[in-house]
Amino acid sequence: MKLKFTPVLLLIMFVVALAVPMVLSTGGLVVAEEVANVNLELQPTCGVRPTTNVAVASTQVGPPIEQPAPLTRFRRPLTQNYSGHTPQEYQAIANQTNYGQRFVYDINGQLNNNQPIIVLHETVTTSQNAINFFRTRHTSEDNQASYHTLITLNGDIVYIVPPDLRAFGAGNSVFVGRRGEEAVRTHPKYPASVNNFAYHVSLETPADGMNNGSSHSGYTMAQYQSLAWLVSRTGVPNDRITTHQAVDRSGHRSDPRSFNSQLFYQLLNNYPRTQEIIIGCRVPGSQG
Ligand SMILES: [Zn+2]
Repeated sequence: MKLKFTPVLLLIMFVVALAVPMVLSTGGLVVAEEVANVNLELQPTCGVRPTTNVAVASTQVGPPIEQPAPLTRFRRPLTQNYSGHTPQEYQAIANQTNYGQRFVYDINGQLNNNQPIIVLHETVTTSQNAINFFRTRHTSEDNQASYHTLITLNGDIVYIVPPDLRAFGAGNSVFVGRRGEEAVRTHPKYPASVNNFAYHVSLETPADGMNNGSSHSGYTMAQYQSLAWLVSRTGVPNDRITTHQAVDRSGHRSDPRSFNSQLFYQLLNNYPRTQEIIIGCRVPGSQG
């Protein structure tokens, strides 16, 4: 297995040995299982530059995703056996109106060279309601939304948008880190956001949190364990892990409420960081 990265997120070129999945159906969700090794290229799903034409932009949908998708579309297993916590992994792929391409250039033609960030959320509804919303066709852009991945109260991982694509997890938003303010504008009608370089993960809200209150009873240990398991596989460093509340510029987002950061980082720091989840893509026709 060889991994080779350029500094530019969206032009990552690499070859990796990974697994072909076998797909099984369980309780309405689809579970993907690895069975054999093959070589697979980085997904050729990058967009070059967003359109500046509002009418065209407003009718654009994300590229189709094979359904059910192989596990390798979401995660490229580097080892056959994990010790310790091993979550169940499912997929419930969003409707094409609820995600888009990651772009190499922003709407003004500036190169996007952001490294990935993780943005943590909570659902403020049940997992099933959230999944149903993401799977529904939304023709109004104000209703188009998605996360990449959702973690249910019992710690199950549900993949919704593959990491090579741009989930609509945060509207008006900015990430402030070591490199200053980072946000990318991809739509002529909407403000810049972190979506172009973000991997959005949402925790299912507990029953006593389905409201606008400022706090609730918190997340389950299974959710923290699965979150640490998942985030460790993105290779994203701790200083680029953030929350919707922290990146939000609208002043209306406070999720994930009642999140125990200390517990999360304690669990996360016990895992080796791998690059099984690649938050990036390549331009069709380029090498990868
Ligand atoms: Zn959120």
